[in-house]
Amino acid sequence: MLELIFLGTGGGRFATITQKRRTGGIRLISEQDKVNIHIDPGPGALIYSLEMGLDPQKIRAIFVSHSHIDHANDAEPLIEAMSEGTVRKRGILVASKSVLRGNDICESSISKYHQAMPEKVIEASVGSSFEVDGLEVSVCRAVHSDPDTVGFRFNVKDFGSFAYMPDSEYFSGASNFYSGLRLIILSVLRPSGQPWEGHMTTDDAIKIIEEVRPEMAIITHFGMQMIYKGPEREAELIEKKTGVPTKAAFDGMRVLLSKEIIVGRRVGKGRDLTSFFG
Ligand SMILES: [Zn+2]
Ligand SMILES: [Zn+2]
Repeated sequence: MLELIFLGTGGGRFATITQKRRTGGIRLISEQDKVNIHIDPGPGALIYSLEMGLDPQKIRAIFVSHSHIDHANDAEPLIEAMSEGTVRKRGILVASKSVLRGNDICESSISKYHQAMPEKVIEASVGSSFEVDGLEVSVCRAVHSDPDTVGFRFNVKDFGSFAYMPDSEYFSGASNFYSGLRLIILSVLRPSGQPWEGHMTTDDAIKIIEEVRPEMAIITHFGMQMIYKGPEREAELIEKKTGVPTKAAFDGMRVLLSKEIIVGRRVGKGRDLTSFFG
């Protein structure tokens, strides 16, 4: 049984600098299988992790989809936590080429000093696959202003697959990477009718979901326009258009991936499963 916890649901420059929604990324935890993965640690990942009782020193892997601060800012402090305060080479860092080495547009966002701390560093290139703590991971395409941006698909024993698609516009052939999923997490920065090249609107999300037909969709990574419009309304619109159950994430939201996909309440202090449905 695996649990997803949203340490943030904001994205883009203004949601980040105002923290109208938090930008801490997503934690993936399974106590019995020793999975503890942090995906896209934007600003606040460390602080919210501590505040929510999710010990950052228990993190075993950090995934960074691209080199923008709302995805990568807290990767370095989390690497320090993961490597026992830099004392021991520990954990796995999975990151796009831009994050590790930079490209023509973006500088690398994790220093060489920090890249030397994990036990293993995997450069995530589209189409590659590998295993992290018993989860099969495959690297998916995304089309964003950082050309090296990647999505991640996880195959979970006794559950099936879910995927996280970071900032991306719709592109044809999305089903080559994101089909056959039980759950897709989409970074819907903008509401319907507000297109922006390289970024996802509700309209893009509808096209993607219609093409890949997951069992369920969760939208997150909301920019200011999306926050003011109301992510729940946009999720309803997606669900109405596609017929796929769609939920707008909120800060602290927990999702249990079991036989069913169960969206739970906000994480408070401590995170015992008995209070999951409370
Ligand atoms: Zn972003
Ligand atoms: Zn971005």
